[in-house]
Amino acid sequence: MIEKNLSSLKEEITAIAHRCGRAAENIQLVAVSKRFPVEVMLEAIKYGHNLFGENYIQEATDKSQYLPQGAELHFIGHLQSNKARLAAEISTMIETVDRAKLGHTLNRHLEKLNKKLDILIQVNIAKEPQKSGIAPEHAESLAAELSRLPMLQLKGLMTMPPLTTTPEEARPHFRNLRLLAEQIRGKGYFHDDSMELSMGMSSDFKVAIEEGATYIRIGTAIFGQRPPR
Ligand SMILES: *Cc1c(COP(=O)(O)O)cnc(C)c1O
Repeated sequence: MIEKNLSSLKEEITAIAHRCGRAAENIQLVAVSKRFPVEVMLEAIKYGHNLFGENYIQEATDKSQYLPQGAELHFIGHLQSNKARLAAEISTMIETVDRAKLGHTLNRHLEKLNKKLDILIQVNIAKEPQKSGIAPEHAESLAAELSRLPMLQLKGLMTMPPLTTTPEEARPHFRNLRLLAEQIRGKGYFHDDSMELSMGMSSDFKVAIEEGATYIRIGTAIFGQRPPR
């Protein structure tokens, strides 16, 4: 099941990329394994997939003990400052930095670990009251501040658009994230002039790729229905 899902997803990503004139290598699949046992991750690794997304620090820390060298973990959940040290230790990227204080806390732990870490800023692109992420109009000044922290390598932006009934309704939100990222890149705040965009999930990744996603975060379409918490 996992092997078949991964290979058909990768074919689909390649097809969509070609259709919109993009290189498929610039679109990375983050396999979201939250709430699944580590065995499903090991199965994906067996089929050559090494990049995973996790939402809960304790769960991710427990699973990370069993992952081989070379497995990459993106932290994609809401991150509390008191969990920053663990997140810094186990992640190859934190996609959900949404406030300056968290950036400073991460930087301090990373100095002790002597580790540089790729991060994204999570943007609450539609300014939904209950959602994490910084408001779009404050993203640039947060980027300016984070870009000065030596152990953080700010690579781009991440978002979760509002839940919609059709994927097409997410398009303007994805487009707005890209426009915001272009503005921030223009100011020189992204590490190495990169511009990563983490957007799109099982239901709307096609639209996200058309709008420039470089990371798509897919759970259900790879691993099936998630077990309850
Ligand atoms: C759970 C989750 C996903 C994956 O969602 P699916 O609909 O299962 O593909 C992606 N991003 C974030 C932030 C998530 O929490």
